[in-house]
Amino acid sequence: MEANRVYNFNPGPALQPLEVLKEAQAEFLNFQGSGESIIEISHRAKEFEAMLNQAKTDIKDLMGLGDDYDVLFLQGGASTQFAMIPMNFAGSGKTGNYVLSGSFATKAYQEAELLEIGHVAASSKDRDFRHIPTQEEIQLSDDAAYLHVCYNNTIYGTEYHYIPETGSVPLIADMSSDMLSRPIDFKKFSFIYAGAQKNLGPAGVVVVVARKEFLSNSPKTIPTMLRYDTHAEKNSLYNTPPAFCIYMVGKTAAWLKKQGGLTVIGERNAKKAKLIYDTIDNSDGFYRGHADKDSRSLMNVTFRLPTEALEKQFVEEAKTQQLCGVKGHRSVGGMRASIYNAMPYEGCERLAAFMENFRQANA
Ligand SMILES: *Cc1c(COP(=O)(O)O)cnc(C)c1O
Repeated sequence: MEANRVYNFNPGPALQPLEVLKEAQAEFLNFQGSGESIIEISHRAKEFEAMLNQAKTDIKDLMGLGDDYDVLFLQGGASTQFAMIPMNFAGSGKTGNYVLSGSFATKAYQEAELLEIGHVAASSKDRDFRHIPTQEEIQLSDDAAYLHVCYNNTIYGTEYHYIPETGSVPLIADMSSDMLSRPIDFKKFSFIYAGAQKNLGPAGVVVVVARKEFLSNSPKTIPTMLRYDTHAEKNSLYNTPPAFCIYMVGKTAAWLKKQGGLTVIGERNAKKAKLIYDTIDNSDGFYRGHADKDSRSLMNVTFRLPTEALEKQFVEEAKTQQLCGVKGHRSVGGMRASIYNAMPYEGCERLAAFMENFRQANA
């Protein structure tokens, strides 16, 4: 880590790989010898579309997906996907089925409910979203158009460690906070999406990875910009795309490939998370994890301290150690350490050491 930078544990916007930031800085005035910045160049320029296509190829390579999948770059945040998904894929007598595993999962369901085409297939709300509903808990309705899951629950710190079996019903996943963090059998999903600002780049673009066939049948009544087929047919260039964001996501994907791909990054992420979870588990109850052990997220580690006063003190003292953004979401309270791909192992070591020292001083 550079001397003037901090370890940023914020949930999103989040820490980005230093190499990527430096590369972008070095190229900022002159994109690929064009004499123009990436934010000045026309999105109709051939260099621009080549860059966009390379980003798509790298993302699909990382995910082990072939020609039957497409990658789209959309705007409006993951939150706009919550509305577009039921508009495009449910209705005409079919409902969107949802697993409610946290705040974003619930928000996604509520958008379907506005159209009166939502169905709750499972929920872990009754136990403060501490666990990911199991396969046995998921009850699909007979009229299911799809099952929507939120693969990593950023606020509660839980994550799927299995892929729900849905038979012939398409599986849709919000992977905003864990896309490209570890190898997953992505072929089991018809549609995956992520707001970039957690694990993939800057805020301002949503990455959609979906089966081409699934994207091709938007109902005729949907406004042009809210149709997936509009964006698929025009290679995400129907209107002016978020050029800089796509460029940064492309660089991040190339960086991931250079690291060795999802197997390597997944092992690294598991080691990082283990450092912090072990510190919680070996603290004699001083730290209490929010998530059930079998549902723990490798990306967002949520935990509480014995009192709110100690939690406040923890946040303040952490800052003096270059450890920033560890305050939890108000709906859970306590702490949350977001440790996405870009967080180096040393950042987690430093946090774990700080936690141990803090406990010894305050237990
Ligand atoms: C952050 C987040 C969202 C919301 O993303 P926006 O881009 O702010 O709309 C949705 N789902 C998950 C899992 C998230 O972590």
